[in-house]
Amino acid sequence: MANPSILILAGDGIGPEVMAEVKKIITWYGDKRDLAFDVSEDLVGGAAYDVHGVPLADETMAKAQEVDAVLLGAVGGPKYDVLDFSVKPERGLLRLRKEMDLFANLRPAQCFDALADFSSLKKDVVAGLDIMIVRELTSGVYFGQPRGITTLEDGSRVGINTQHYTTEEIRRVARSAFELAKRRGNKVCSMEKANVMESGILWREEVQWVHDNEYPEVELSHMFADNGAMQLVRWPKQFDVILTDNLFGDILSDCAAMLTGSLGMLPSASLGAPMENGRPKAMYEPVHGSAPDIAGQGKANPIACILSFAMALRFSFDQGEEATRLEKAIEKVLADGVRTADLMGPEGGTPVSTAQMGDKIIEA
Ligand code: ATP
Ligand code: MG
Repeated sequence: MANPSILILAGDGIGPEVMAEVKKIITWYGDKRDLAFDVSEDLVGGAAYDVHGVPLADETMAKAQEVDAVLLGAVGGPKYDVLDFSVKPERGLLRLRKEMDLFANLRPAQCFDALADFSSLKKDVVAGLDIMIVRELTSGVYFGQPRGITTLEDGSRVGINTQHYTTEEIRRVARSAFELAKRRGNKVCSMEKANVMESGILWREEVQWVHDNEYPEVELSHMFADNGAMQLVRWPKQFDVILTDNLFGDILSDCAAMLTGSLGMLPSASLGAPMENGRPKAMYEPVHGSAPDIAGQGKANPIACILSFAMALRFSFDQGEEATRLEKAIEKVLADGVRTADLMGPEGGTPVSTAQMGDKIIEA
């Protein structure tokens, strides 16, 4: 059987630096665990613009459609701020998401014990936290029509956005959430505003339909999103998988992210429809951006990118045990007190470099 395939798009800024550590780990898997991947690399974002004049070449897009998983670093940087919107680095990323139809965005909020003091919340509220937010990524108010700003007859203006969800858009992302829950704590909490929004009513009904017809064994609850935000901060450990729409998911996942500490620790996955092999189309990337302020200095924390690869092991390569092994190695390194600069508390200490952090994780 052919090796599983990965397309690496390291991108801009710290993207290539953190991705270098993932590449070391991929090599380690081939050498030490007999788990070889077919890896190809290409350009995205500003790096692609510099060579091709576009943030994602058609050939790169075609490759992304064929591989088992895309690993993305980060895109963008001050050098590209002056570019026309149509060729901005971020457009490369949007094109990937859109053409691969990655409708389910998975953002775990996992608190490593060694970093529990980093949370803005009390230690006992976050220690051991492990929840997953599933955000619908391709529809909702971000894309709904009609939208725009129009001028009324009296000269005043009106800005319009439309929250728009179809049965199928809701059902497919709900399936992603239930599938995930089956591999985790078997619990889904769906969040909307069915008390004030028609799309919220449909959301609730369709999620319930998928549950009753396809996943009756998973525990399902519904919550209004405002209450959900409150509960997320009050006692986040009550949740396992949170399922929500594009707009609420944007807000709730940023909120959940800060339960756990640094931006340098947060991975994500974006999944689409199942391919022929039964696994979803997928792209994995750290939540952070290209961090131009620290790029090229060896200061970036590679853990978010490495955890994104762990998600790839779990969701694209059926290597859940290896994913857990990798996460455990990270936990051990943190427990040993190894810290990149972003993880240093006020008491200070000597941070390790991006490469040293990668080496320590491989050692562990
Ligand atoms: P984008 O618009 O691409 O989301 P941004 O400006 O919102 O970018 P980042 O590029 O993620 O955000 O950077 C925000 C801050 O977090 C910066 O100060 C950056 O140095 C820091 N940061 C981001 N990622 C990391 C990392 N992996 N390790 C250390 N610090 C990081
Ligand atoms: Mg940002």
